[in-house]
Amino acid sequence: MGQLYIDGTWTDAEDGAHREIRCPADGRLVAEVSEAGPADTERAIGAARTAFDDGRWSNVPAPERGALLLRVADLLQRDRDRLARAETLDTGKRVAESEIDMDDITNCFRWFGQLTATDDGRLVDTGNATARSKVVHDPVGVCSLITPWNYPLLQTAWKVAPALGAGCTFVLKPSELTPHTAIILVELLEEAGVPPGVANLVLGPGATAGAPLSTDPRVDMVSFTGGLATGKILMANAAATVKKIALELGGKNPFVLFADADHETAVDNALTAIFLHSGQVCSAGARLVVEESAHDRVVDDLVERAQRIVMGGPDDPATETGPLISAAHRDKVEAYVAKGIAEGAVLRCGGERPKDPRLADGFFYPPTILDGCTQDMTVVHEESFGPVLTVETFTDLDDAVRIGNDTEYGLAGAVFSADHGTCEEVAARLRHGTIWINDFGPYVPAAEWGGFGHSGFGRELGRAGLAEYQEPKHIWTNTRPGPTGWFPSSSQG
Ligand code: NAD
Repeated sequence: MGQLYIDGTWTDAEDGAHREIRCPADGRLVAEVSEAGPADTERAIGAARTAFDDGRWSNVPAPERGALLLRVADLLQRDRDRLARAETLDTGKRVAESEIDMDDITNCFRWFGQLTATDDGRLVDTGNATARSKVVHDPVGVCSLITPWNYPLLQTAWKVAPALGAGCTFVLKPSELTPHTAIILVELLEEAGVPPGVANLVLGPGATAGAPLSTDPRVDMVSFTGGLATGKILMANAAATVKKIALELGGKNPFVLFADADHETAVDNALTAIFLHSGQVCSAGARLVVEESAHDRVVDDLVERAQRIVMGGPDDPATETGPLISAAHRDKVEAYVAKGIAEGAVLRCGGERPKDPRLADGFFYPPTILDGCTQDMTVVHEESFGPVLTVETFTDLDDAVRIGNDTEYGLAGAVFSADHGTCEEVAARLRHGTIWINDFGPYVPAAEWGGFGHSGFGRELGRAGLAEYQEPKHIWTNTRPGPTGWFPSSSQG
């Protein structure tokens, strides 16, 4: 049974609670894991606090911390197959997708390992011959790391690697639905030599296991990836004790397609942008914003192809996309589609649970396209987080940019056009944290990831991804100390 990891010890929950983890593709039992209550989480926070305050990790020189992250990367590579399989069983996604995730995770640890090893602050010009100034990077302290179920280990790695690199200690809480790979990662951290108390793991739902993570005064920072509603709660909680907070929330990402774009390429990318992992991707291209003159051909071909996407479980080699994560999530996606149709959208394909008996035990929902959409429709401006593409049209570049930006979110967007100037102008004017030109989805560990607006704030990956877990500290040294002479009266007689 998967256990909690507190102060360097694998342990059951205090009240013995546990949960069955089942594969969303077919309901098979994957594992049983301990389920923490608030008291377990408080104990984990206490361990992280002590480990931070006694300096057992923050006093380790940055190059050694960096070297440890590189060791973890090697272990992740060694255990790639085991990790990919575990991720697939928890999420229902294809093994091939999980394998790509594991490679990205290894690269994330390598990036932060190298960055940490060379991160030794900077000298600042004081403009003064008798003073030296240096800015160094202190760790923020005890961090709560809270992650979602769609890319369970990837989102975890984006937090764990920089937190360790910066010298922080942490309590990690993965989604209660997908805890498997977080457990393995913590085993690997232990094997790589992370001292007891530095990395703590609690498992369970947000409302119980997660609750103290944003309220306990011993926590210095909350780094959260998940939904907007949860992000708002955590931010309000964190305010009471002025915790630093970083939020990676949802997206309602535009795929802007000009009529001069290469048709096959654009259609293929638009299809992948929304239907990969059944749309359960924060940066999914859920809003197709297509030039009016190209609309019919593009949407006809998308519908044609979407209907042929093969849904299935992870053990079926023919599978092209998997299930949704849970029954509740499928209900939510279904409700968004129904509301879209009620508000005037035209259902072009999907929109109905599959009848194939092979899929009966999983939470499958088909690729769905809603045409004739407008921004006032709920399904267009709220995140369904499922395989649902809405289609809007534009007439000129200004219109395309206006629609692309007409969302409270701002995570990612793409522009497809044969005209380089058009692409550059749209990329410059879209208010989203990542913009792809004639492409969709790639990211690199050296480039920052994060959102504008309600997609949250703070950045993961890149240099800012490490800085998130650091407090810059300015150290001024007077090399020829003497009296200031500022209050001469006070020094007389
Ligand atoms: P969620 O908000 O329901 O849960 C996320 C995590 O928060 C889970 O571990 C959950 O248990 C925990 N949680 C919930 N309430 C909590 C509380 N009160 N205290 C502490 N922890 C609490 O989100 P989800 O359904 O797991 O994930 C889907 C969402 O994540 C989508 O909105 C998606 O866009 C977003 N997401 C964003 C990014 C990004 O990079 N911006 C990446 C992946 C997913």
